[in-house]
Amino acid sequence: MIKFENVTKVYNNNVLALSNVNIEIDNGEFVFLVGPSGAGKSTFIKILLKEVEPSSGTVIVNDTNLTEIKRGEVPYYRRKIGVVFQDFRLIPSLNVYENVAFAMRVIGASSREIRKKVPTVLSLVGLSKKYKAFPNELSGGEQQRVSLARAIVNNPSLLIADEPTGNLDPETTLEIMDILQDINRAGTTIVMATHAKDIVDNMKKRVIAIEKGTVARDEQRGRYGYED
Ligand code: ADP
Ligand code: ADP
Repeated sequence: MIKFENVTKVYNNNVLALSNVNIEIDNGEFVFLVGPSGAGKSTFIKILLKEVEPSSGTVIVNDTNLTEIKRGEVPYYRRKIGVVFQDFRLIPSLNVYENVAFAMRVIGASSREIRKKVPTVLSLVGLSKKYKAFPNELSGGEQQRVSLARAIVNNPSLLIADEPTGNLDPETTLEIMDILQDINRAGTTIVMATHAKDIVDNMKKRVIAIEKGTVARDEQRGRYGYED
């Protein structure tokens, strides 16, 4: 479903962020993206989201060639991908229910669909009771649950998580990882950039390590491999 072929990214300050990267990720995989700061992980993710254009090479996601799609098609492409970030990025003026419903409204879902789907995903992330709360009334873990609910409410085939546990304590991190595993078991491909060594070492999923813009390791049931 994801195919990077000879992808190189040189930013306009001449920084070589990715150099001739070849990666294939199948439907349903759970992949950890690891590597030192500045290695190119965010660039990889931004290319996947079509926020950054590769300087050369081909990127294919679900049969869509990202280097060929037109500007106007980008929003439709992005709808098929769920994204969660370290800093949650919820809308502060909307309560939990509305934060999730908003993602459905944007794509033109009907009120009926929204009333049916939002409670379902909130229950999936264990937040049914807090649907009226506002983001500033929630713990970090709860905010990340909302963010996960929002990311999956439109049934994306791919979920990208950029350091999703970076602001969470170890216990909360485990809870979020459980939810990510549930989402993955339900069939969603997950690509997660992380520095959470213990999580990566315990979960024994595929690990792709990027160092200095190249794939340094690509292991099934891999390990984190760094000491930080
Ligand atoms: P990581 O996510 O692994 O920390 P990044 O992909 O963010 O790595 O960065 C890879 C390299 O590209 C770094 O040297 C970084 O400073 C550089 N870089 C990232 N974004 C930009 C940008 N918009 N313009 C110029 N250089 C950038
Ligand atoms: P992350 O969320 O992984 O930290 P960022 O986009 O915030 O990703 O930045 C990643 C790295 O890229 C940082 O080291 C940052 O300094 C560098 N970077 C981001 N934008 C630019 C830019 N416009 N020019 C140079 N370096 C950049």
